[in-house]
Amino acid sequence: MNEVKLKNSIKRITIFFVITSFLIFAFGIVASHSLTLVFKDTVSRQVKSQVQEYKTDINRKIQSSLQTLYILRSFFVSDEYINTETFQAGLYESNNQSNFIRMAYFDSEGLGIRVKTNGDIEKNINLDDINENAREVIAQAYNGENAISDVYYDSSLQQSVIAYAVPVKNGNEIKGVLAASQSVKILSCIMDRQSILSDEGIVMVVNSKGEVLSGSTKPLMENINNINDLTDISDEKKQEMLLSIADLKASNISITVNDSSYYAGIEPVNIRDWSIIVVDSDIGLNGSIYQNMNITRVTTIISLILAIICILYGYKQIKKNNNQLLKLAYYDSLTGAYNMEKFNMLLDDVWHKDDKKSAVVAINIRQFKFINEIFGSDMANKLLCHIKNLLDDNINENEFFCRENADLFFIFMHEDEPQKIIERINSLIHKINGIILEKHPKYPISIYSGVAFLSYCNDEREQLITRVMFALNRAKLNGKSNKIVFYDSELHKTEQLQNYIESHMNQALVDKEFKLFLQPKINLKNGDLYGAEALVRWITNDNKMIFPDQFIPLFEENGFCTKLDLYMVDEACKQLRNWIDKGYKPINIAVNQSKLLFYEEKYVEHLCYITQKHNIEPSLITIEILEGLALNNVNDINDKIARLKKYGFKISMDDFGSGYSSLNTLGNLDIDELKIDKNFLMIASETNGHRQKIIMGQIIALAKKMNMYTVVEGVETKENEQMIKELGCDFGQGYYYSRPINAKEFGEKYMKERKQNE
Ligand code: C2E
Ligand code: CA
Ligand code: CA
Repeated sequence: MNEVKLKNSIKRITIFFVITSFLIFAFGIVASHSLTLVFKDTVSRQVKSQVQEYKTDINRKIQSSLQTLYILRSFFVSDEYINTETFQAGLYESNNQSNFIRMAYFDSEGLGIRVKTNGDIEKNINLDDINENAREVIAQAYNGENAISDVYYDSSLQQSVIAYAVPVKNGNEIKGVLAASQSVKILSCIMDRQSILSDEGIVMVVNSKGEVLSGSTKPLMENINNINDLTDISDEKKQEMLLSIADLKASNISITVNDSSYYAGIEPVNIRDWSIIVVDSDIGLNGSIYQNMNITRVTTIISLILAIICILYGYKQIKKNNNQLLKLAYYDSLTGAYNMEKFNMLLDDVWHKDDKKSAVVAINIRQFKFINEIFGSDMANKLLCHIKNLLDDNINENEFFCRENADLFFIFMHEDEPQKIIERINSLIHKINGIILEKHPKYPISIYSGVAFLSYCNDEREQLITRVMFALNRAKLNGKSNKIVFYDSELHKTEQLQNYIESHMNQALVDKEFKLFLQPKINLKNGDLYGAEALVRWITNDNKMIFPDQFIPLFEENGFCTKLDLYMVDEACKQLRNWIDKGYKPINIAVNQSKLLFYEEKYVEHLCYITQKHNIEPSLITIEILEGLALNNVNDINDKIARLKKYGFKISMDDFGSGYSSLNTLGNLDIDELKIDKNFLMIASETNGHRQKIIMGQIIALAKKMNMYTVVEGVETKENEQMIKELGCDFGQGYYYSRPINAKEFGEKYMKERKQNE
C-alpha cells in the first residue's frame, strides 16, 4: 500500500465528514428557520380568522337585538295601546322575551314609560332625566334612525349596558321612540368563549379612542381600560395598534409581552367606531406545533452532536487502523526498521529532488546462516535488532535505512566520497562487533557491503538497487571479511557482461559458440604427453573470447552448467573419435563437471550414452570433481564414483588444497587422481614456501600410497617443474608446457606426432 494514497483517503474521508456535518447543521438551521416562518404565518392567519369570527358573532348579536326592538315597535303604533295597562304588560312581556333588561317608550312629547325585567314600572319619565348615552340614541331615533349607543355604566341598573332606540311611526309620522338597554354581558359572553382562543389569548372591543368597551377577563388585560394603559408592550407597537383602531383599519401586529411573542389582530366591527382586538400567543395557539418544533430542534441538535461524536470516533478509529496498516505496510516487524517498500518511497522522494550526491549502501552479515544455526535464531534476531539500533544512532539527518530481509540492510547515505563511506561502514562494523554473542563473545562478525552512487544511475531507482546488489554480490564472492565493493565502471562492464551471458547462453549453446580448448598434461618422468584437460571457451559470433571464470560461477548459480558440462563431454568424445578415425593414438581427456551434475539422477547413464554415441572407451575420460562436493555426503558420492568406475571412467579430484581440503575426505573417496591446486605450487615456490613444499611432498606421498596419480597444476617455469619432479609428482600441467589451445591446434601440435610415432 502506498502512504500517499492512505493519506489522501484519510483526507477525503475527513472532508466528507466535515461537509456532512456542515450539511446536517445547515439543514437543521434552515429547517428550524422555515418551520418558525411557517409557524408564524400560521399563527398570524389563525389570529386573523379569530378576529373575523368574533366580529361576525358580535355583529350578529348586536344587529339581532336591534332587529328585535324594530319588530317590537309595531305593538306601539296605537295610542290607545300605549295608554292602557295592556301596554305595560306588553312592554313587560317583550322585555322578558328579548335579552333586554329594560325597555322604554317615549311619546311625541318626550314623556316616557320604562319597565324593568323585575316588573318595576316607571311612568312619566322626562327625557332630561335619563342617561346621556340613552338620550343620544333616543334623539337619533326621533330623527328616524335606528341607533345603538356606546357601552356605558347605568347607575340605576348598576351595570354596563348598551342602549338601542328605534322610531315608532304612524305612516310617515314619528309618534315616539322605543328604546331598550341590554347588559354588556352579551359581548363578554361571546368574548369569554374558550373554544376559539388559547389559554393565553384575549379579546376585547374598543372604540376609536382606544377605550375598552368590553373584554374577556384575562390576566393580560386586567385593570386595563384603555389601550394607552398597556405598559408591557413597546410604544411603537402600541402606536401602531392605536392608529389602526382610530382609523378603523384591519391590521395584524406581532408584539412582545414579557419576552413572549404574541399576535394582535385588529378589525373594525362596523358598529359605531368599535374595533375588535384579539391578542394571542404563538405557543398558546399552536402549543402542539410549537412543541413539535422544539422537539425537532432538540432532535436535530442531539443528532448533530451524536453525528459529530460518531464522526470523530470513526475518524479516530480509521486513523488508528490506518496507522496500524501503515506500520504493517512500512515497517519491518522484527526490528522496527523501515521495510523495502518505505525505503523505496523515500528514495523516490530523494530521486525527484535530484540530489544525486549520495549513495545507497547494502550490508550483509557473512555466514549469517551459520550464526542462525549455531547461536540460535534468538541470538541472530538480537544481532539484527542491535544493527538496527546502531544504524538509528549512526545515520545523519535526511538519511534513512531499511531491513529488506534476513540480514540485508539498505542505507541511504548523504555522502559522495568513497573514502567517507568506507570510514562510516568500518566504524559501523566496529560497533556491530561490540555485541556479545552469548557463549561465543569473541566471535567476529564480518560484514560485506556493496555501494552504488545515485549519480551513477540516471535511470530508474530499481536500477540503483540492482547495482547495489550487484556490488554486494561481488563483495560476497570476494570472500574477504568486511569487504566493501563500489559499483563503478569496471563493475558496470562486469554487470553488462553478466547480462549478456545470461541472455545469450542458451542461443550460444545452440550456435556452438562454446569451444573445446585443451591443455596438455605432461608425464614428468619422460616429458611425454599423458592427457589433456578440456577447458571451455566461449567465442561469440563477433569473435570475442569469454573465459570460463566469467561465466562458470554464473552458470553454477543458474543451473546452466549441467547442460554445458555434458556438451563439453560430448565435444571431447567427438574430438577423440575424430582423432581415432584419423589413426591417432588417443589420449585421456579430463572434463570439469559441476557438482550440480553429480546430483542428477541419470547422470551416469547420460555419460555412458555420450561415450557410446561416439564409440569411445570411458577409460579415455577423466571426470574432474571438486572436493567440496563430498563434504557432506561421502557415501552418496562414493556410490556414484563406484558406478562411474564400473563403466571405466577415471575420477580426479580437482583443486585440492584450495578450499577446505581435508585428508580425511581424500581417504574416504575412491579416486584415481589428485590434482593439486595451482596456488599450492605458487606458495611452495616462494622463497619462504619451505613448509608448504614439505606438505606438498607429504600429500603426493600419501596419494601414492593410496594408489592415486598426482597432477600439479600451474606449472609455469622450469623451476616449478623441477620442484614437483623432486616431490615425486606424476604429471604436470601449466603454461610452461602450453596454454589451453583449441582442439584443432592441439591436434596439430600433439596428436599428429602420435601417429608418426606409432
Ligand atoms: P580449473 O579446472 O582449475 O582449470 C585450470 C585453470 O587453470 C584453467 O583456467 C587454466 O587455463 C588455468 N591454468 C592452466 N595452466 C596455468 C598456469 O600455468 N598458470 C595459471 N595461472 N593458470 C593456469 P580456465 O581455463 O580459465 O578455467 C577456469 C576454471 O573454469 C577451471 O579451473 C574450471 O574450474 C572452470 N572450467 C573450465 N571449463 C569448464 C567446464 O567445461 N565445465 C566446468 N564445470 N568448469 C569449467
Ligand atoms: Ca579442472
Ligand atoms: Ca584445477
